Amino acid sequence: MTESILVLTHVDENGVALTKASLEAVTAGLELAAKLSATLTIGIVAAVAPPATCVLAATGARLLAVSGEAFAQPRYSTDAAACEALCRAAAATIVLAPGSARFTRVAAGVAYRLGGCIDTHITALAGTEATRWFYRQRVEAVLSRDARPWFLLLDAGTHAAFAAEPATAQIEQIAVELPALHTTVSGLRAPLQDAQTIRPDAKILLVAGAGWTKKQPDGQIHATEAGDLILGFLGATGASLGSSKSLVDQGGEGVPVLPFLTHMNQIGQTGATPRHAKGLSTCCHGEEPHVVGWRFIADRRAISLDPNCGWTRGKADVVYIADAFQVMSKVNALLDAGKA
Ligand SMILES: Cc1cc2nc3c(=O)[nH]c(=O)nc-3n(C[C@H](O)[C@H](O)[C@H](O)COP(=O)(O)OP(=O)(O)OC[C@H]3O[C@@H](n4cnc5c(N)ncnc54)[C@H](O)[C@@H]3O)c2cc1C
Repeated sequence: MTESILVLTHVDENGVALTKASLEAVTAGLELAAKLSATLTIGIVAAVAPPATCVLAATGARLLAVSGEAFAQPRYSTDAAACEALCRAAAATIVLAPGSARFTRVAAGVAYRLGGCIDTHITALAGTEATRWFYRQRVEAVLSRDARPWFLLLDAGTHAAFAAEPATAQIEQIAVELPALHTTVSGLRAPLQDAQTIRPDAKILLVAGAGWTKKQPDGQIHATEAGDLILGFLGATGASLGSSKSLVDQGGEGVPVLPFLTHMNQIGQTGATPRHAKGLSTCCHGEEPHVVGWRFIADRRAISLDPNCGWTRGKADVVYIADAFQVMSKVNALLDAGKA
């Protein structure tokens, strides 16, 4: 069977550029189309019709777009209608899409409308086999299905983002019959950038462990200073903040807490498994249930007072046996000096 591959993409909140995750899906689509000798179509959902000159021209794929004010904001009814129209126009048998909040919300519904099926959290594609992890990254499964269209939502960070010089492209506009709109998007309320500490696209992950709120060599707890050092580093580098379970659990035990941390920051077996190029663990012991969440961190470093911590036992590339208060204070000073 000759497959017809469609990559669904959408623009970012500014409404102009395709999201990084969308461009990663484009790379996945190009690689898959080459492997399967299949046709490739790229569908774009955006409020404003994409300009005639665009980066996707270099893909050589057929380009389709659904545009109009109704698609400015994520909304189930309009996004589902847009994706359905793009799938029908492309006669797609395999649909790749970024696992973004916007598409994750509608993709299963669109698959149902088209009589297809869907798999999510895909990390790799090899021909008509897709890979994903189960049970918090303990079991890796390779899936294949006969049902078509087969929707595959890709995890962010698993493919390089497609990049090329913009060139003139032919983009076909696909008309969508809008459903009755019951939802009006009145605006977006999001935490301030510096209040949002989980940043999946960041190059660096900073992990805070329970040591930050424990008694230090002077017999005192320095939770406020710890918070300032951690936030200072995040502000200067744009790093994402992870935590050990012990630290985020402390709130319930009446122990001093870092107020900007929640269980959403937890990394590990019962937490998240993010993908970042580099990770720096601070005041964390590096126990296996925590380190298993570092599976996809390429370059691992740790600062711990304990020369026998888990990190020194082969779990980190570099371990600094040092006081994280002193090291991070020096690092922040160097970052500040670099900015000045
Ligand atoms: C079923 C199960 C699931 C679990 N899932 C997870 C999970 O998803 N994620 C997770 O994180 N844990 C998980 N755990 C818990 C895990 O085993 C550890 O208990 C936890 O990771 C310990 O956190 P920690 O290293 O921050 O704290 P601690 O073990 O208390 O270590 C604190 C470290 O800070 C160091 N330190 C103190 N002060 C300083 C300083 N000034 N400078 C440098 N270092 C300093 C100390 O030397 C110490 O090594 C799980 C456990 C179980 C049983």
